[in-house]
Amino acid sequence: RAKTIGFIGLGAMGREMATNLLSKTFQASNDAELTFVVHDTVDQSTTRFLTASTSLFPGRHILPASSPAGVASLASTVITMVPSSPQVKEVYMSESGILEGLKSLGNPSDPSNSTLCIDCTTLDPLVAVQVADQIKRAVTSDVGAFDMVDAPVSGGTVGARAGTLSFMVGSDLHQSFTQAEHTLLKMGSRAIHCGKNGNGLIAKIANNLLLGISMLATSEAMLLGTVHGLSPQILAHIINTSTGKCWSSEVNNPCPGALHGTDKSPPAERDYEGGFAAKLQAKDLGLALSAAQQKGVPTPLGMLATNIYKALGENPDFMNRDFSVAFKALSSAVGK
Ligand code: NAD
Repeated sequence: RAKTIGFIGLGAMGREMATNLLSKTFQASNDAELTFVVHDTVDQSTTRFLTASTSLFPGRHILPASSPAGVASLASTVITMVPSSPQVKEVYMSESGILEGLKSLGNPSDPSNSTLCIDCTTLDPLVAVQVADQIKRAVTSDVGAFDMVDAPVSGGTVGARAGTLSFMVGSDLHQSFTQAEHTLLKMGSRAIHCGKNGNGLIAKIANNLLLGISMLATSEAMLLGTVHGLSPQILAHIINTSTGKCWSSEVNNPCPGALHGTDKSPPAERDYEGGFAAKLQAKDLGLALSAAQQKGVPTPLGMLATNIYKALGENPDFMNRDFSVAFKALSSAVGK
């Protein structure tokens, strides 16, 4: 088990992350016992991953598992990357989940059974803490042999492919953070220990609250200027050299044409294909509002933004497009 890594959830982010992890792991060592085991509920995703990775590393051990329990029974490090709280509960707590796989190992004080689960999903921090608590105590009430950290990511599918993601890690034990960091740096360029379990997710949803609002603000500003006849390129250049500059204006500008002449090619140039889906942004803002409500934090802008992304996330024309599609939705009000 010590030489086996498991990966569950081979979607837009997961397949890129798993490819980098597998490549860097196999490139770093010729140990014939090194094994990579994967699982996804969609068989096609698993098959596609296996075909691509075995052609990259012929002869190395790359296997499918029929369930998360199967992954946990084989691997000492398990990474999960699924949509949100319901799927994390299913992957970890269902009858064929990771918890059952760990229980089947038996004696947690046997070092060969020790397992670290690294969940990179963006989900409700409270659910993440509850699931981690059950994993830590999978067999006995002693914490140590089995551990789980939350490690949500920033950087999107582009960062996932390039291996430049930032991970925000919530881990009660510093030792588990250090162990997780070793794996995470094969998929990203930084991993930051944010404190106790759940704190990685609080950092992630606070960032996405700001991101969701800044994208709407950028959309309004770009629309205001261009409807009055300004060139999108000139307006973006002014904003990006002035005080309004932010990631949404500089890297992921929502107005087509705004970043022409730069090295950036945001989803707005491809009718908002790819990128970070509007429905996922709606989900993350929902998580942020619920975390804010738990502590009585006022979020007047967050509430407005959540309603807007919820509407986009329920509209079949916009739900799977990059969240910068908010610009297109607003533009329709002025007949653009
Ligand atoms: P996705 O929907 O493309 O991929 C999720 C994968 O999980 C799918 O392949 C799905 O089949 C699989 N899955 C679902 N339930 C499962 C289960 N019970 N067992 C095994 N596999 C299961 O989503 P994504 O874009 O890869 O996002 C994953 C997570 O990363 C989300 O929490 C998202 O908010 C977060 N995130 C996404 C981006 C982005 O740009 N896409 C950026 C940062 C963070």
